[in-house]
Amino acid sequence: MRTLDSLEPVVALAKRRGFVFPGSEIYGGLKGTWDYGPLGVLLANNLKREWWKLFVEQREDMYGLDASIIMPEPVWQASGHLGAGFSDPLVTDTVTGERFRADHLLKELGVETDGLTLEQISAAIKEHGAKSPQGNPLSDATLFNLLFPVTMGAQQASGNTAYLRGETAQGIFTNFKNVRDTMSPKMPFGIAQIGKAFRNEIAPREWLFRVREFGQMEIEYFVRESEWEQYFEEWREQIQGWHSHIGLATENIREYEVPVEDLAHYSKRTIDFEYNFPGKGFDELCGFAYRTDYDLRQHMEHSGVSLEYIEPDGSRFIPHVLEPSFGLERAFTAVLCEAYTEDEMNGEARTYLKLPAHLAPYRVAVSPLLKNKPQLVEKAREVFRLLKQEFGNVAYDDNGNIGKRYRRQDEIGTPYCVVIDFDTLGEENPAHADTVTVRHRDTGEQERVAITELTTYCK
Ligand code: ATP
Repeated sequence: MRTLDSLEPVVALAKRRGFVFPGSEIYGGLKGTWDYGPLGVLLANNLKREWWKLFVEQREDMYGLDASIIMPEPVWQASGHLGAGFSDPLVTDTVTGERFRADHLLKELGVETDGLTLEQISAAIKEHGAKSPQGNPLSDATLFNLLFPVTMGAQQASGNTAYLRGETAQGIFTNFKNVRDTMSPKMPFGIAQIGKAFRNEIAPREWLFRVREFGQMEIEYFVRESEWEQYFEEWREQIQGWHSHIGLATENIREYEVPVEDLAHYSKRTIDFEYNFPGKGFDELCGFAYRTDYDLRQHMEHSGVSLEYIEPDGSRFIPHVLEPSFGLERAFTAVLCEAYTEDEMNGEARTYLKLPAHLAPYRVAVSPLLKNKPQLVEKAREVFRLLKQEFGNVAYDDNGNIGKRYRRQDEIGTPYCVVIDFDTLGEENPAHADTVTVRHRDTGEQERVAITELTTYCK
């Protein structure tokens, strides 16, 4: 049972325990940016590694890529991102000058704006008496493009404009020819990429949910047009499998079939996988779109370079594409919300993160029972080094009493605490020599395990 009814306890824990800090905090912060702290980076890296393992390494039809973040204007002209499809309707508070997303303000009044023109949105604002959050009148809606321009080189001459990528996908399409020519892939095949994307969101909000700089984990899966429906179903199941792999409960995931009239400019079918975010309700976690051959065709026309697939018999065609697109920060948030648990142990309230072991920042924490006993410390350091060699991310914790250490590790989701005590040294019961206490996060149960078996035990 979930104990959360808002995001606040998760945000507070994430700050307190070094998962996520506001970006540029000592200068007052920069809106829409957040920094992963020491534990956040471990969790985020685990998510990325598991994703890569599942979708690239364990398959035979996938290739990896890590393309540049900065891409020139023609890429974004071809992809359509410089047009209305990648712009949000903006309204201004006529008193304070503050800017808001018209679609969000209208949604709060129960008015959906998908598919409406700017004129229709402006009319809806008047008709429904929409006001700014401060209660002031609003301007008419205008379009605001979400791409971040950057100036390349010393000269600000025209033609030099480039953009931080608004999605990682375009780096895949622009490298289609390179991958085709160097790897000779057999159809169907996919190209996967993990990296940063940037969107100049009008109103960043809800912690990591809507930010201006975020991680994407994307796949473009190239198929023959006649096969897209078959592979759509296969990928849909793969995406469901990913969500259970990262521990999200089935009842907290919902599939939203985007109605045809609301589809993005490039898509013929899209499913948004939504997560039930505490205090917010179901909202997009990741997207899955059939993008037809739109992108390759556009880049072919704009670049003049052929992006066709060439069959062994020499015949050519432009592949169609399925795109599972995952947002790292939304997955990170969902995983933390799902794991956050408050319960009682030994008559005391505790908070713990019930994270799957393969995602937990630390797999194990190692402690000497007492830190002023050199033999215990020496043995504990030895066990620590042994486990670190196997798992990499292992904590050494000798602060405060054992109960406090357990609580601290519970709060950051460490599945196992290993304690080196006098028994380990064989001082109290020779039969226990070279064994340790392993304490389990979720149940508090303790077992004695031989040091030689520890790495297998904690797997
Ligand atoms: P939304 O409708 O919420 O703006 P989107 O449909 O524009 O999202 P996509 O273009 O499909 O998003 O991007 C794929 C994924 O990238 C999303 O499912 C989400 O997880 C993530 N994402 C997109 N925009 C943001 C953002 N501003 N902040 C954090 N994650 C984002």
